[in-house]
Amino acid sequence: MKRLVLAGAGHAHALLLKAWAAAPPPGVELVLVSPQALAPYSGMVPGWLAGHYRYEDICVDFAPLVAANRARWLADELLGVQPGQRRLRLRSGATLDYDLLSLNLGSTLTPPLAASLPELQLLPLRPLAQLHTAWQATQAALASPTDDRPLHLCGVGAGAAGVESLLALCHWLARACPRRQVRASLLGQSTELLPGMAPGAQRSARRALRRAGVELRLGSSFDAARDCGSGSGEPATRLLVWAAGAQAHAWQRDCGLAVCGQGFIRIDAQLRSVSHPEVYAVGDCAAWATPLPKAGVHAVRMAPVLAHNLRVALAQQGQVIDHRPQARFLALLALGDRRAVAAWGNWSAEGDWAWRWKDRIDRGFLRRVAA
Ligand SMILES: Cc1cc2nc3c(=O)[nH]c(=O)nc-3n(C[C@H](O)[C@H](O)[C@H](O)COP(=O)(O)OP(=O)(O)OC[C@H]3O[C@@H](n4cnc5c(N)ncnc54)[C@H](O)[C@@H]3O)c2cc1C
Repeated sequence: MKRLVLAGAGHAHALLLKAWAAAPPPGVELVLVSPQALAPYSGMVPGWLAGHYRYEDICVDFAPLVAANRARWLADELLGVQPGQRRLRLRSGATLDYDLLSLNLGSTLTPPLAASLPELQLLPLRPLAQLHTAWQATQAALASPTDDRPLHLCGVGAGAAGVESLLALCHWLARACPRRQVRASLLGQSTELLPGMAPGAQRSARRALRRAGVELRLGSSFDAARDCGSGSGEPATRLLVWAAGAQAHAWQRDCGLAVCGQGFIRIDAQLRSVSHPEVYAVGDCAAWATPLPKAGVHAVRMAPVLAHNLRVALAQQGQVIDHRPQARFLALLALGDRRAVAAWGNWSAEGDWAWRWKDRIDRGFLRRVAA
């Protein structure tokens, strides 16, 4: 019996398990390696931070998907691949051999070390799975009824995740801590807000940030002393929200698979590792020949191709197909207050209708992958 290991509870693996549930590939032992069964759906993360959704409402539950495939869920974390031996190293100390491997592990962020920033709440937005615990700790610290010191909120990263998350946090703070005086700023290394997005969407985001009282500092690198230091010496709580650029998981760099300069796994048009064709990689953890933005839509689009090509590889018959990434996609950016901006190429428009549209699409995705 062949063993196919799916590592990571990402968007593409959710769709693959849903698609296979009616007829799992015969004669195959299917194993999902993921520390948690609940995986947050990224599109709804800003709405959850703002308080519009509960955590359970924004998660894909992999337990029933795995059961529907008569597969096995291994609650563990991948720490390395030995592609020569077709073996995985896991955090528990165990190893797991595979015949075919599919990686859908997302990406991570490397914020400054918390120890170097005393008296600072640190909220890194990736990995998404750890955001739940980090946000609970932050909420508990900020909403303390005995602490009404001013709050300095600093967001780093002026891309979509940084803008949406900072606006969401401002919305949540205004309701959860109304007595607190909040001073918020958003820093971006680029001189452009939402680089590459429609100019109208950039203007909408600027207006929303201004309405929320956020000072925008573009073309500026993070400086702990300047951006999170005590400044005037006034007693204040400091929250640093880190959303600066998706990075590859550190172990990917020397895992023996071919990787790009940033450590993402290089794949071919059929989504296979260019060095080890029995390994597939999709979504954020993969490097397409021409770099793709790290967005969930790419992981979603890769899913049917992955499901098809893995089935062909397992059966050793049929024709594999190529993935063709979309050049443009609809972006729907939440603006904190149940409004959103929609952007497609150079077109954009803003309103509460865009939030309802986004909400419908996002809930639709979760319904699509519910077992
Ligand atoms: C706040 C925020 C908002 C965003 N909003 C949008 C949006 O609206 N639209 C959009 O297209 N993109 C959005 N993105 C980008 C999006 O999050 C990513 O591009 C998307 O999640 C990538 O999907 P994925 O399937 O590759 O991985 P993920 O969805 O990140 O899933 C990876 C999975 O792998 C697991 N994992 C990680 N490491 C290991 C390991 N070593 N062993 C086992 N399992 C592991 C994780 O726990 C996780 O379950 C947003 C990002 C952020 C931070």
